[in-house]
Amino acid sequence: MADVLIAGAGIVGLLSAFELTKRGRRVTVIDAPALYPPASWAGGGILSPLFAWRYADPMNRLTVDAPARYRRLVDELAGHAGLRGDDLNDSGLWVAVGEAERERALAWARLWEVPCQRADEHEHLSGAGRQPGLWFPEIGNIRNPRMLKALRSWLSRRGVRFRTAAVKRIEPRRRGASLWLSDGECLTAPAVLVSSGAWTAGLLAPLGVRLPLFPAKGEMLLYRLAPGRVPAIILTEQGYLIPRADGAVLVGSTLEEGEGSHYRSVTGRWALERKAARLLPELADQRPMAHWAGVRPGCARGWPYLGEVPGCSGLFAAAGHHRNGLVAAPASAEFLARLMCAETPSLPVGDYSLSSS
Ligand SMILES: Cc1cc2nc3c(=O)[nH]c(=O)nc-3n(C[C@H](O)[C@H](O)[C@H](O)COP(=O)(O)OP(=O)(O)OC[C@H]3O[C@@H](n4cnc5c(N)ncnc54)[C@H](O)[C@@H]3O)c2cc1C
Repeated sequence: MADVLIAGAGIVGLLSAFELTKRGRRVTVIDAPALYPPASWAGGGILSPLFAWRYADPMNRLTVDAPARYRRLVDELAGHAGLRGDDLNDSGLWVAVGEAERERALAWARLWEVPCQRADEHEHLSGAGRQPGLWFPEIGNIRNPRMLKALRSWLSRRGVRFRTAAVKRIEPRRRGASLWLSDGECLTAPAVLVSSGAWTAGLLAPLGVRLPLFPAKGEMLLYRLAPGRVPAIILTEQGYLIPRADGAVLVGSTLEEGEGSHYRSVTGRWALERKAARLLPELADQRPMAHWAGVRPGCARGWPYLGEVPGCSGLFAAAGHHRNGLVAAPASAEFLARLMCAETPSLPVGDYSLSSS
């Protein structure tokens, strides 16, 4: 029997399984058979919230050290499912911001000790790069699909069991919970984590949990350029470019709050093609290699809910990572694992509590 059941194998569920396995827990991960890639596969992997200084402290606490956390993870998981050191691309991040906001951002960076400097035009770019901005040399991007595969490989080798089934119903026990699965089985454990992305709200609603959560569809395009042609992540109000080490360049993203489908749309593609051409004019003449959509676990406040479900001892949830689940997941997972193992919490528990809505 497992000590811990985890419902959902996105980045939050897998990293939580990683932290719990390291603490000696026997973990079973249950993941719904997906026709489309969940958010963690569809995301871009920028290791910072977009315009990080606009967020509240609870989100900053989850994200400011993400590049260092991912560097340690990549070092530890390298070789699993082919994960390579440069799947964490230390590209740096260039952000276009107006003068007034630049001062605010620089003050934020000093407070949180995030290296940041004024940067006028980005020297290699002819599009959006030709405006004043800020340069964050230590913020890169993670090739999220490879990280997810590496995590699954590492976990499998350490005895974590993976079940392909959807959790249909959660029944709290005196300690922990039983999960009723789509294949008719029922699994019970003294500790359960619900990390089912945009579907978490629906699983928790019958337990009386009402949080301001919603699906938020996003679409992306992928182009292929010479490696190094886009030397850094380029972020503007109109969109962003994310360069992988091998020359793949992602253009993102659309945001449709309340939209829970995974369909790629013609309007989404047009919007992204326009963003691409504005950010880097030569992309106007290029055909994208891929176009996909994913559903973010949207949340009306600027940071996720992480903690025990009120009134249900041993039942935990991670909900509402919205646009920042990849950057926030390592810190979220450490926090959740500490709570589930009754260790000293790494963050103020009340800020993330499910009762604080
Ligand atoms: C286009 C796009 C770009 C993005 N870019 C970035 C970025 O650059 N940086 C960043 O930090 N974040 C980014 N994000 C957001 C990020 O991807 C998400 O916040 C994050 O992946 C959420 O992770 P999760 O594990 O909570 O959910 P998910 O990745 O959605 O995983 C949930 C898992 O639960 C499973 N599941 C669902 N229901 C059930 C059930 N009933 N039973 C069992 N399993 C179930 C699903 O199959 C899935 O595997 C982006 C998202 C999108 C869509």
